Amino acid sequence: MTSFSYDFSGTYTGKTSFKTGVFIGGEFRHGASKSTIDVVNPATGKLVTQISEATAADVDDAVKVAQKAFDETWGLNVGGAQRAALLNRLAILMDEHADELAAIEALDNGKTFGWAKGVDISFSIATIKYFAGWADKIQGQTIETDEKKLIYTRHEPIGVVGQIIPWNFPLLMFAWKIGPALATGNAIVIKPSEFTPMTALRMCELINEAGFPKGVVNVLVGYGHTVGQTISEHMDIQKVAFTGSTLVGRKVMAAAAATNLKNVTLELGGKSPNIIFDDADLEQAVNWAAHGIFWNHGQACCAGSRIFVQAGIYDEFLERFTAKAKSIQVGDPFAPGIDQGPQVSQIQYDRIMSYIDSGKQEGATVHTGGERHGTEGFFIKPTIFTDVTPEMKIVKEEIFGPVGVVIKFTDEADVIRQANDTVYGLAAAVFSQNINRALETAHKLQAGTAWVNCVNQLHANVPFGGYKQSGIGRELGEYALHNYTNVKAVHVNLGHKM
Ligand code: NAD
Repeated sequence: MTSFSYDFSGTYTGKTSFKTGVFIGGEFRHGASKSTIDVVNPATGKLVTQISEATAADVDDAVKVAQKAFDETWGLNVGGAQRAALLNRLAILMDEHADELAAIEALDNGKTFGWAKGVDISFSIATIKYFAGWADKIQGQTIETDEKKLIYTRHEPIGVVGQIIPWNFPLLMFAWKIGPALATGNAIVIKPSEFTPMTALRMCELINEAGFPKGVVNVLVGYGHTVGQTISEHMDIQKVAFTGSTLVGRKVMAAAAATNLKNVTLELGGKSPNIIFDDADLEQAVNWAAHGIFWNHGQACCAGSRIFVQAGIYDEFLERFTAKAKSIQVGDPFAPGIDQGPQVSQIQYDRIMSYIDSGKQEGATVHTGGERHGTEGFFIKPTIFTDVTPEMKIVKEEIFGPVGVVIKFTDEADVIRQANDTVYGLAAAVFSQNINRALETAHKLQAGTAWVNCVNQLHANVPFGGYKQSGIGRELGEYALHNYTNVKAVHVNLGHKM
């Protein structure tokens, strides 16, 4: 066990100091391997700290501890009102530490302090509060068959659940995962991304302070091929919830299938279409389209990365959209006036730059960006490609960076066909002032979320998840609760004789 202290400067000038390590049974310890993981500041590329690495042996320990907590002090031992009180207490503590959490997120992930506070932290708090509200409303049904039988269902917690999350919204993904799992009474072994472990580690002390029984939440920072794989294969984990790439989602599902057939939910990648008709409010469409692809530096699963613009407004849209992209201020996440920080890591920076190179090589035109910003850290300028064709990599694959393609269309049926011509189906958007056209299009798009005259709108109360290879199951909203309960039917004989 070690601790991490940091004095922030710029748009936030507070301090943070907290314990780090492998968090099992309410305590930090060194991982069994005694190895460490580097935490790098993506704005500088320099080392911030090193934290203890969890490995497979730690997963085994955590699962045992979580099972004991589930059996003895959690699970069916604790009523919904008490779970609600604990989650509400956690939300209050997060709120009290909102600035600090936002600053840690900005340092670790590279998003700006302002965005981290305004979206990531506030949405995380809202998520925990929302699921606190459900904790005492987990109800089954009474099912009528005949008068000599009483039949009812119970929605029981599954037990020990494994959760694996990505680096793009580190605390938010943590909250989306633990909220419904705790509201329904499960014990958790969660693996943050090795690239962004810090807010999850900061949450451990808050979870203790909120009063959750020890061992209900266990946080293991380790690599995917060790901790992630072990969680997915573990015989004593009955459910795994994964958010990340489609490639790794496939591995998680295969590992579950090959072992104990644990229940699997997957929140995966996307290549979301954004369709802008001639009759759209052009200024609004430009502003939203820019938010759609450049928000969080393009590192959003639902990023509107394929922008289809109808011929009548295409030239004007492109001109204004390019100007908008050029106006985005890229720089230090803690400097005032900055809209976009660095990409999360050298690996992601290299990956995005290789997509940009492939677009150039395949003959697409760069309208703006297409190159690094500055001389240190992992900054990439907002980038717009045109003159693309459907088979180009930049049109087909998820880039996960600030890179959008703009495609001209004329025919309504054809643009819907093009929009749906993808293995993904996470989100889609349509811009039109004709409500019939907008809704007809929204209904024909194969995506778990369809936005009309907006993009990237998410809410704790509203389900989110993918069609096709963007995932299985839904997070958020009442739907998320179904992922974390087993339904038991109880048949009571009130007088039938054998
Ligand atoms: P990733 O798939 O590389 O990693 C996600 C997590 O899986 C990490 O914690 C990683 O360590 C772990 N992992 C890696 N290999 C593993 C293995 N073999 N077994 C088990 N776990 C393993 O994804 P990423 O780069 O961290 O995140 C970006 C991806 O996440 C994008 O594709 C994005 O679209 C997706 N995403 C989806 C949503 C959603 O709600 N649909 C939300 C956020 C991010």
